[in-house]
Amino acid sequence: MSEMTPQAKSFWDAIPDKSKTLLLNNVWCTACCTARTIVRYEGHIEAGDLILQGKCGICGAEVARVVEGS
Ligand SMILES: [Zn+2]
Repeated sequence: MSEMTPQAKSFWDAIPDKSKTLLLNNVWCTACCTARTIVRYEGHIEAGDLILQGKCGICGAEVARVVEGS
């Protein structure tokens, strides 16, 4: 598991594994101009949303994914 704040971890742990995989494999990379897999990511909570920040699995560019809180 990647680095996450305790809050982010409990948010992430509540998401079904299938949804987690979909989220991680569909992160927009502005360098590749397509959806890529995020790797070496970390997570934190911002205004109730989970923010995942990491690298594109293909080109290594910075990518981020917001998972909206309920
Ligand atoms: Zn990329």
